[in-house]
Amino acid sequence: MNPTRRTFFKVGAGGVVSSILGFDLRPAYAQSRELKISRTTETRSTCPYCSVSCGVIIHTLGDRAKNVTPQVVHVEGDPDHPINRGTLCPKGSSLQQDILNERRLTKPQVRRPGSDRWENISWDQAIDEIGRRIKKTRDDTFMEKDAQGRTVNRCEGIAWNGGCTDTNEFNYLVVKSMRSLGVTYLENQARV
Ligand code: SF4
Repeated sequence: MNPTRRTFFKVGAGGVVSSILGFDLRPAYAQSRELKISRTTETRSTCPYCSVSCGVIIHTLGDRAKNVTPQVVHVEGDPDHPINRGTLCPKGSSLQQDILNERRLTKPQVRRPGSDRWENISWDQAIDEIGRRIKKTRDDTFMEKDAQGRTVNRCEGIAWNGGCTDTNEFNYLVVKSMRSLGVTYLENQARV
């Protein structure tokens, strides 16, 4: 067999290798998958990334003791979910990396004007700097009345753009705090 790019994706890497070597690897792949999730606890959930809201099954390993945090070992599409019937787009398929990711940033970072690198700063310093900049920007750009003299009390110098994995609770606090500053350019991901 001379696999083309199209047949590679259609049959899958395992299928192409099987055909080339003359034996069928698919049962072995199926069995290795079964072994991977054979002792896991299944929890049904919803992909947080977009408003399609595909159903997912999160597989966790743990002895269920109260002081033990279960370890997420696999996330897959829920075949019984009416929206996606087991399928997931590439973002949803990488959901496990949203939960477990050694590259996740755990400290605030700042890139100073003119600099070509990010530097770690403490949480106290980050909160202090953010607070100062918000106050200065709001003081500089707050508008009590518009061009027609109507009272608007808005701040057009600050905008907020929410992320797709922000929770409803987080977004609720964002909306309350930004509105209290008069911010009108406010956008959240689909879940609010
Ligand atoms: S799997 Fe993809 S399409 Fe489905 S909710 Fe997640 S991001 Fe949206």
